[in-house]
Amino acid sequence: MASSKLNKKVFDLKEASTTVKDLRITFDSGKTRSYEWKVSQLKALLELTEKHEKEIVEALYSDLSKSEAESFIQEVGMLKNSCKTALKELKHWMAPEKVKTSITTFPSSAEIVSEPFGVVLVISAWNYPFLLSLDPVIGAIAAGNAVVLKPSEIAPATSSLLAKLLGEYMDNSSIRVVEGAVDETSALLQQKWDKIFYTGNGRVARIVMAAAAKHLTPVVLELGGKSPVVVDSNINLQVAARRIIAGKWGCNNGQACISPDYIITTKDYAPKLVDALKTELEQFYGKNPLESKDLSRIVNSNHFDRLIRLLDDDKVSGKIVHGGEKDKSKLRISPTVLLDVPRDSLIMSEEIFGPLLPIITVDKLDESFDVINSAPKPLAAYIFTNNNKLKEQFVKTVSAGGLVINDTTIHLAVHTLPFGGVGESGVGAYHGKFSFDAFSHKKAVLYRSFFGDASIRYPPYTSTKTRL
Ligand code: NAD
Repeated sequence: MASSKLNKKVFDLKEASTTVKDLRITFDSGKTRSYEWKVSQLKALLELTEKHEKEIVEALYSDLSKSEAESFIQEVGMLKNSCKTALKELKHWMAPEKVKTSITTFPSSAEIVSEPFGVVLVISAWNYPFLLSLDPVIGAIAAGNAVVLKPSEIAPATSSLLAKLLGEYMDNSSIRVVEGAVDETSALLQQKWDKIFYTGNGRVARIVMAAAAKHLTPVVLELGGKSPVVVDSNINLQVAARRIIAGKWGCNNGQACISPDYIITTKDYAPKLVDALKTELEQFYGKNPLESKDLSRIVNSNHFDRLIRLLDDDKVSGKIVHGGEKDKSKLRISPTVLLDVPRDSLIMSEEIFGPLLPIITVDKLDESFDVINSAPKPLAAYIFTNNNKLKEQFVKTVSAGGLVINDTTIHLAVHTLPFGGVGESGVGAYHGKFSFDAFSHKKAVLYRSFFGDASIRYPPYTSTKTRL
């Protein structure tokens, strides 16, 4: 979408610079550091979410045809939980952490004091445009920063609703929304920030990191990747199939960063798995899934064409065992399963981010760990198995942002676990206390008194002193 359609007034370099200056004045006043200010802003965020649930769900429907249930559970509900957790835990998070000292500094005491970075930038993505915009903002507020949020222009209804609601409910001397696309984001990235939190793809992450490097600004990069699912035999296949479907098509029709990207199973077991997926898919989405109200559409025609290109690749010709229906006028693709997909096919070379699910087959299941580890590190990896040795081997050998055993995607809802990538899937993590930490500098503080002033540390350094 052209930036002029989003903003009445074009947001340029001058305005970006003024915005940062304004917020820095507020931050320097100390206002955002107080417990009371943080609580007032977290409560305002909760209130705007609760009062405007209907509008939020409508905006998500306009941007993605997201079902009401999905929008409530995965965006509105999760955001409310994050707000409530932060409100409940804030005092505890803010408290200095006492730590032990060493004999070298005896007598002394020490603590780690969390302080806000300052003025921070949050750049968000289109696929969970409400949650992914505001969840990092909760961390930024809890830690006491002033913050600019730049939502994704690819979800324009949610972007303008966020601008409107945050304008009405939040303290605009320290929390602002800037709408826009590449030009506006580039203007923002040329400013000096104290932290940048970016959610999106790896190509833009490199632009963000390069811009941050100019000012030595630390970054959190929440990226994606090809999240695999290993499926053993001797499992509860119906439950496994349902949980794979919930994480894939039940999460924005596969347009989610931790959706299963591909499955690895044995040649022998694959037909059984395909049958179970077919049965459960029909149960969930009916015989004509293109008409299902429970499946999001593809976000736009660029992404639709990209997904169709993956299916048109000669290397996967004849591999579709379920689905494959499409309707470009409605931007819909039905849940599609492909069997025995070659590893050098297009669909295996990039993050799918849509309703296509290829299955790779191996002779023995433990070969799957080498398949996973030979690719860039994914944001998540899943295994369905009852075999404890295999679980242990999976946890020990597979490197990914997060792992789930016998389910998919729901680790996202556990706020005591850090959520973030490793290698190509990201830098840093957030959720719960990890969000507070992501936006806090951990200041080391050592307390000494005037007692115990040992002469050993002062010259002249006699041989008796150095031998001690
Ligand atoms: P997107 O197109 O909305 O882009 C993300 C942000 O980058 C937007 O705000 C956009 O305006 C900005 N942007 C785009 N081009 C830019 C440029 N040239 N310079 C500066 N800014 C620019 O979203 P996307 O990248 O398509 O999102 C999908 C990707 O994000 C997938 O890879 C997915 O796995 C990943 N993702 C990760 C998470 C996570 O939490 N780890 C969550 C959602 C999505």
